[in-house]
Amino acid sequence: MKVDFHVHTNRSIDGVHRPREMVKHAKNVGLDAIAITDHNQLFPWNEAKRLSKEFGILVIPGIEGGNFAFEKHWIALGIKERPVFKKISEFSKLMEDRSGLAIAPHPYTRLGYHNYADLGFKVVEAFNGTEPKASKKINHIDGISEVTGSDSHAAPMLGFCWTFIDACETLEDIFESVRRGLCISQGKRIPLSRCLHLYGVYFTNRILCRPFNMIYSFNEIAQSP
Ligand SMILES: [Zn+2]
Ligand SMILES: [Zn+2]
Repeated sequence: MKVDFHVHTNRSIDGVHRPREMVKHAKNVGLDAIAITDHNQLFPWNEAKRLSKEFGILVIPGIEGGNFAFEKHWIALGIKERPVFKKISEFSKLMEDRSGLAIAPHPYTRLGYHNYADLGFKVVEAFNGTEPKASKKINHIDGISEVTGSDSHAAPMLGFCWTFIDACETLEDIFESVRRGLCISQGKRIPLSRCLHLYGVYFTNRILCRPFNMIYSFNEIAQSP
């Protein structure tokens, strides 16, 4: 099955389309599962279940933590509450205890943990569809599983890259396969023309409308229906 482990909706300050539109489009482009990982907002389980049923595609509840402009990011999947930890080195263990999955996204960007292995991460985003340069230096370390996330912020960005996992159906199957390294990155970077929506919203939200959000946290962002 094709799984995209890193997708944003309009609940992120720089996301364009609603969760429903993202899930519908993901199904249309042939993905079998997507993780919704909005900035600092855990996607609700009941909504994920509802969308999964409606569109026949598995929606994995997740969150991408860290202030999106200034702090390094982490991704938590399959947990019921936002993980709380003091040091990033505690994060992966905490997620293991909760049967979730911890991912170090875009490790070689300014907002990524390039020393992910030393910090206890067992899963790294080896390819990021929006910032493929972020994966150029991946070291293929034993015991570190590699996944792909498109980091889509708009529906047209979906479907260009994914993680291929053989013979999986449930969320538990997917996590277990990833933990065992039974996953392969496939696809290519998202064409620039498909990112135009993102840049439009980025400009409007970040630069014109919400400059102060660059400084404060983003938890207050309105939820869409
Ligand atoms: Zn990020
Ligand atoms: Zn992201």
